[in-house]
Amino acid sequence: MARFDDERKELIDLLRSKGITDEAVLTAMYKVERHLFVEPMYVNRAYEDNALPIGSQQTISQPYTVAFMTQALRLQKDMKVLEIGTGSGYQAAVIAMLGCRVFTIERHISLANNARRIFDALNLRIAAKGGDGTVGWSEHAPYDAVIVTAGAPHVPDALVQQLKEGGRIAIPVGDRESQQLVIGTRKGNGLVTEIADGFKFVPLIGKNGWN
Ligand code: SAM
Repeated sequence: MARFDDERKELIDLLRSKGITDEAVLTAMYKVERHLFVEPMYVNRAYEDNALPIGSQQTISQPYTVAFMTQALRLQKDMKVLEIGTGSGYQAAVIAMLGCRVFTIERHISLANNARRIFDALNLRIAAKGGDGTVGWSEHAPYDAVIVTAGAPHVPDALVQQLKEGGRIAIPVGDRESQQLVIGTRKGNGLVTEIADGFKFVPLIGKNGWN
């Protein structure tokens, strides 16, 4: 039995009890070992449903948030997904475990390098770079889905323009203290959106984010 197998099963049961229904997402989150993405001092807390510090004043997102956002994107195998805010790399790994090709950007170079080391060790289909993700990654556009894991003042148009027609975006939008999760589907030049409440994120800092 793999390390923390029981704890991971309990976390998946908890996510199910909180309303996550997409079995592919739950299976991917069962397969990705979250304890490999947290600092050594937090390994024993990796399967709590909580955000945890990862250095550079940033956090690995709460598992429920990862599950909710991933489910909202309605991902299928071989889709191309852009993530803004690599952080620990955990969310990107969950999306890659669903069989998607992931492109992820992180503004803290030390976090980007650390995540890249983990992706290589786990042999995951993820391209990672350091930089400002609010401008997107146009070389690989268009994407089937975009996920932003930090809170933005508005939805950056650059990210909408890099989505395919019918592609989906999940992005927290609000002020620096509280946000709503915007889930949008690209239609023409804009988005058709739904809103979900009850999430809290670190700020998205960059050209099309906060100063
Ligand atoms: N997805 C991450 C994970 O699984 O660990 C959670 C990341 S944390 C909640 C949000 C991340 O967004 C932080 O690491 C932060 O440095 C990053 N970030 C903020 N603004 C950014 C920007 N403009 N471009 C890229 N990354 C950014």
